[in-house]
Amino acid sequence: MDYSKIFNSAIDRLHEEGRYRVFIDILRNKGAFPNARCFAGHNGPKPITVWCSNDYLAMGQHPKVIAAMEEALYDVGAGSGGTRNIGGNTHYHVDLEAELADLHQKEAALLFTSGYISNEATLATLGKILPGCVIFSDELNHASMIAGIRNSGCEKRVWRHNDLAHLEELLAAEDSDAPKLIAFESVYSMDGDVAPIHAICDLADKYNALTYCDEVHAVGMYGPRGGGITDRDAAAPRLTIIEGTLGKAFGVMGGYIAADQVIVDVIRSYAPGFIFTTSLSPVLVAGVLASVRHLKSSSEERDAQQHAAAYLKQSFADAGLPVMNSTTHIVPLMVGDPVRAKRISDILLAEYGVYVQPINYPTVPRGTERLRFTPGPAHTREMMDELTKALTEIWDRLELRKAA
Ligand SMILES: *Cc1c(COP(=O)(O)O)cnc(C)c1O
Repeated sequence: MDYSKIFNSAIDRLHEEGRYRVFIDILRNKGAFPNARCFAGHNGPKPITVWCSNDYLAMGQHPKVIAAMEEALYDVGAGSGGTRNIGGNTHYHVDLEAELADLHQKEAALLFTSGYISNEATLATLGKILPGCVIFSDELNHASMIAGIRNSGCEKRVWRHNDLAHLEELLAAEDSDAPKLIAFESVYSMDGDVAPIHAICDLADKYNALTYCDEVHAVGMYGPRGGGITDRDAAAPRLTIIEGTLGKAFGVMGGYIAADQVIVDVIRSYAPGFIFTTSLSPVLVAGVLASVRHLKSSSEERDAQQHAAAYLKQSFADAGLPVMNSTTHIVPLMVGDPVRAKRISDILLAEYGVYVQPINYPTVPRGTERLRFTPGPAHTREMMDELTKALTEIWDRLELRKAA
């Protein structure tokens, strides 16, 4: 058995398809984000502008967040020292769960070490606890939800993206007594579109199904208190479980669910991905607490982000660039080919100091490769004008306008 030949051919396949992943080596400049340094070349770090960060509101550099983390570090030290059950249940964790439960108008919340783990652990455990459960999953659901559904061992029905008629057809086809769970996202992070949450809840009511909503790309950014699209649309009380991340708009790290006390108690008690792992560092949790509390009372960052996104979309459209029809803060530019997407991204970084990562399969379907821009409150109009100019030059140079 030639193991290394197998490994090498797995990598070769990625090169052939043009989707071998190259990580860009950067340091973000605190206080001056989205400015950063890139360590790609040989002449020392090169200044760049980051256009693809999920630190959507630049909370990762907010003075309140930094101060809270410093204070926690000097007060209680670096790590939590244990799992939640054995020594690692710090007062910061308890406070943050109360804060998140309140944010989503739920009885309780539960922290995980990432959004990925929160989806995987919660969906897998729910499916195991509910006998004969059937899980209905939007076809564009995130890999972490798909992993959780698979690990639940449940029957899975995939409904066409945001297609309520198809969802209803699948719901109606099941035994009316079988437990059912509808799993979906509020904001889809690659296309930037939004789920019809109330209509999904109407179907859940009609067919007596539970609902699970991933609000990862919405928490902090939508709703008067940053509770996500369920906050904006006044739908939070209708959902069984709301899931979010602490690593994107909240700017730090971690994930969570919010739900009724008894559901949180079940996940807390049965989910291996929650139980058998060291809890988040109290330093991180302290930073998140400051971030969540700030965004509950301040809409300044949210408003500035929406203005930036609207401006950039308009600027791309005016320049004839193939901006996708996003209704949110996400600004995807369709390329449709992995090699070309990488080429554009390489030119942007090398010649314009613009960092945007090409998005390839399996993150998006083949043939829909794209560049995904995430302008935020710290991206100025001058930066956006320069970006549009750079892209226009590249589109002309590579003669992409006709192709698109
Ligand atoms: C990023 C992402 C996650 C995972 O969250 P992390 O905190 O980064 O692990 C879950 N769901 C969706 C839709 C995501 O985009």
